[in-house]
Amino acid sequence: MKKKFFNAKFYRHDTATEMMVENGKITQIGTNLAKADEEIDLNGKLVLPPYVDPHLHLDYVYTLSELGEQGAGSGTLFEAIELWPKFKETLTVESVKKLAMKGIKDEVSQGVQHIRTHIDVTDPNFTALKAMLEMKEDLKHIVDIQIVAFPQQGMYTYKGGVDLVEEALKMGADVVGGIPHYEPAREFGEKSVHDIVNLGLKYDKLIDVHCDETDDTHSRFLELLNALVLMEDYGSRTTASHTCSFGSADNSYAFRMMDLFQKSKINFISCPTENAYLQGRQDTYPKRRGLTRVKEFIELGINVAFAQDSINDPWYPMGNGNLMNILDNGMHLAQIMSPEEIETNFDLITYNGARCMNIQDNYGLDVGKPANFIVLNESSVHEAIRRRVDVLASVRNGDFLFRKKEVEYDVELKLD
Ligand SMILES: [Zn+2]
Repeated sequence: MKKKFFNAKFYRHDTATEMMVENGKITQIGTNLAKADEEIDLNGKLVLPPYVDPHLHLDYVYTLSELGEQGAGSGTLFEAIELWPKFKETLTVESVKKLAMKGIKDEVSQGVQHIRTHIDVTDPNFTALKAMLEMKEDLKHIVDIQIVAFPQQGMYTYKGGVDLVEEALKMGADVVGGIPHYEPAREFGEKSVHDIVNLGLKYDKLIDVHCDETDDTHSRFLELLNALVLMEDYGSRTTASHTCSFGSADNSYAFRMMDLFQKSKINFISCPTENAYLQGRQDTYPKRRGLTRVKEFIELGINVAFAQDSINDPWYPMGNGNLMNILDNGMHLAQIMSPEEIETNFDLITYNGARCMNIQDNYGLDVGKPANFIVLNESSVHEAIRRRVDVLASVRNGDFLFRKKEVEYDVELKLD
């Protein structure tokens, strides 16, 4: 059966207004396409590929509310890491699934169809990992989930952490994770970076490291990670998440490094809301914003994506799975609002995240790709972002996952 979606604007396609879908795949994008068995009017709205959230902690979502009084603190990153293990002991596969499902619903109902989730594997029972491996299978029809074997308490800070990461990869995790800045000495942080890359190569897995999520300019694990994947030609399969300290790095160092990032093709993920909240805590004024060099990465063609990171967990009390909110905050913090920048800013929550996840071959508004897309409640990119509009519909393999009623912005005001 042929389906035609017509009367639409397609992101990064200048003139196209129609899309033909057959057997769940995009067969044509253009104008005046032939008749189809089913024709769906999109009312002139903007079509994007689905939002991608390439960095989320689904085993943590809504745990802040669950922690109750215990969760109340000053809200610093390291405090949250200390708080987490107590809660972790109480988890069951069912309890993890219940909360994770809330987070997944938040995201999918707002246009996300691809999530990379870090799952804490510093747990000999692998409770959260087991839950997530099941969910990944069970929810395939609505969302693609990639799982990172993430040693939240460290590969060395937590005794046997490296082995647990390796075991998690054998169990089916897709990506090797790490947290070198949390290891107890630089030497162990560096050792963990070597382990991460070795495990990635050994098991043919992607790599995504919580890297230098600190304002400490001496935290330079990114330099080592990039060097190793450059030498192994593994950069395009590797992501450095956060890299907050790189936002504080001296220019002469930063530009040397960015040259090397271009060579390795390493990917970056910035979590603008989360890190704006967590970083700069020890600063008086001026206060740092916790953002890596997003603007420079974009200008230099280094792949960088935005992500949600947390939804109501000990690290961050807010978060709701709305990627438009992340983009809006991120583009303020990164100062990317020239007319040209605005026109491509959606890349930060779509195509660029897909590249981090290495799913670009099956992602995007191109002929031959799965017919996965979202429809925004606006017709132009600029207006969609300025108004922070909602996602009206999400289509997966040619079928609607949901379709909401259009919201009217024009309301009658009582002026007298
Ligand atoms: Zn994270």
